[in-house]
Order: sequence, then structure tokens, then C-alpha cells
Amino acid sequence: MSKKYRVAGDKKFQCKAFNTADTGSFKNREEAEKELTANKEKIVALQEKLYAEKKEGFVFIFQAMDAAGKDGTIKAVLDCLSPHGVKEAAFKAPSRTELAHDYLWRIAAQLPEKGEIAIFNRSHYEDVLVGKVHKLYENYAWADRIDRDKIISNRYKDIRHFEEYLYHNSIRVVKIFLNVSKEEQAKRFLSRLEEKEKNWKFSIGDMKERQYWDEYQQAFEDAINRTATDHCPWYIVPADHKWYMRWLVSKILLDNLEEAHPHWPNVPTGDLAQFADCEKELKEELGTKDIPETEELAQR
Ligand code: ATP
Ligand code: MG
Repeated sequence: MSKKYRVAGDKKFQCKAFNTADTGSFKNREEAEKELTANKEKIVALQEKLYAEKKEGFVFIFQAMDAAGKDGTIKAVLDCLSPHGVKEAAFKAPSRTELAHDYLWRIAAQLPEKGEIAIFNRSHYEDVLVGKVHKLYENYAWADRIDRDKIISNRYKDIRHFEEYLYHNSIRVVKIFLNVSKEEQAKRFLSRLEEKEKNWKFSIGDMKERQYWDEYQQAFEDAINRTATDHCPWYIVPADHKWYMRWLVSKILLDNLEEAHPHWPNVPTGDLAQFADCEKELKEELGTKDIPETEELAQR
């Protein structure tokens, strides 16, 4: 199902070819919510095995226009996961220290270990989105040999190679674009203004960025077309209906985790022989006292 939304570089991606209000084949919201719960249970089971096996790590990247629902979606889909082996990294405007390094430096510092899942709330893609739209690189220091006109196209190349490098090193990068319409963004901004308890979510800066809507759409198209590969695909998620977006994100996570086929690790045969000795030893030790029933143990 998530295949319909998968962009893997084999054909050209255009924002307008994707319906932001798509709700797939669901008859209603309740149906999607029920399936979301079922998907989350499966995700939990797979994550436990992934963590135990420690063979492969995942980076799920979330990118979107403001108010598309990144934070809410991450919370709704991933609140089920154990904090062991799952971490979220949010990337804001780079600090002075971060700017003193190459732009992937702060990203590399947040990469997961094998067995872990990292959720990137924004990412290195900001450097070819906001960085491109506002030509932020013009304010940074560069060696004389650097051709400024090639900075963005070089970054697409860097990103492709970086993600491919991670793939070769057992880390999969899965990129999710929450695709909201301009009209729906206006409605969400308005509700942030009208409802007192949502006021804190509104920022004048977001309103200013809205004026660059077309430039951002173009930047997303370019970034996706230049970095979508079969190994590190993009998913274009319709974001006008939050309930559909949440279900689809859960499905994307589930499909990708399933592809990794995590299993409980095998215990080496040498260890198994010793397990029997350990079991005997423990039983003898407990045999001197009252041995509690299994049920009683479970209730403690
Ligand atoms: P919220 O939903 O709470 O508003 P947010 O992710 O929008 O969360 P903000 O602090 O509002 O968080 O915004 C982070 C800002 O940092 C965004 O405007 C984003 O474009 C900017 N940013 C992130 N990475 C970079 C980067 N590499 N260069 C420039 N700006 C960046
Ligand atoms: Mg913001």
C-alpha cells in the first residue's frame, strides 16, 4: 500500500501530481484509527527484535512545510515505542559551532547504532530547502576554490553519497515528506491564532515563510528528484487529513521494518549447553527455600 507513495528516483516527481487530501481506500476515520493501532502493535514487536538483533539501524526523516503536522504525527505513531533504542533528533537553525563544521557534522552525531531507530524531525535536507530558498550559504565562509553556484547541486550529490554510504553500513535512511496544501496550512495557522491554547504554536516567522510557498515546493521537488533512490526512497504523504497521514506513516514504518526481517538473535550452541547448568544451579538454590509458582512471580 505504501508503494503508491514511494518515490525511488525511477521517474520524475512533481508535487502537483500528488493529492494532498488523499484518504486512500478508507471509508472513514475510525477505520484508519483501528488500523493505526494494529500497525503500532506490529511496529513494537519488530522494534524489539531489531534492538535485540543489533544488525541494522534506521533513520526515519520527517520533512514538511510548517503546520503540516510533523510533531503530532511523530508523537501519534511512535509513542508506542520503548525508549530503549529509539531517539528523536530535532534540527533547528544551526548554532555557531555547527556552522563552523561541514553541514553533515551535526547529522552524523545523531545517527543510530545498529539496532536503533532514529527519528529526524527536520534534517540535512534543510540545507537544500530553507538553505536554497534563502541562499543562506552566501552568508557562510567558504574556501576560495569553492564555486558558489555549485553549492546546492554539490549538496544533492553529498546527500546521495552519504545516505548510500549509510546503506552500505547497515543503516537505512527512509525519507518522509508530509505534503500539506497551501489552503490547509492557512486553516491550521488560523486555528493557532483563534484558539488561545494553540497560540504558542504560531510564529510570525512561519507566516513570512508562507510567502515563499512556490519556492519551497520547487525546492522539495528538486531535493526529492535528486536524492530519491531505491535504497533510500522518499515517501510523499498526503497531510491534509491528519488521521490518514498518521495511518500512512505507520504503514511506511511497518513496511520498512518488515523489509529488514529482524529476528530474535540465536543463542550460540556453546552457551545453550551452559544454560542447562545455570538452570539446574538456580533450581537447586531456590530448592532450599519456597519455590514460588510462576503465576505468583508474574504478579510481583
Ligand atoms: P515547531 O513545530 O515547534 O514549530 P519546528 O521544527 O518548526 O517545530 P522551529 O524552531 O520553529 O521548530 O523551527 C526550526 C527552524 O530551523 C526552521 O525554520 C528550519 O527551517 C530551521 N532550520 C533547520 N535546519 C536548518 C539549517 N540547516 N539551516 C537553516 N535553518 C535551519
Ligand atoms: Mg516552527
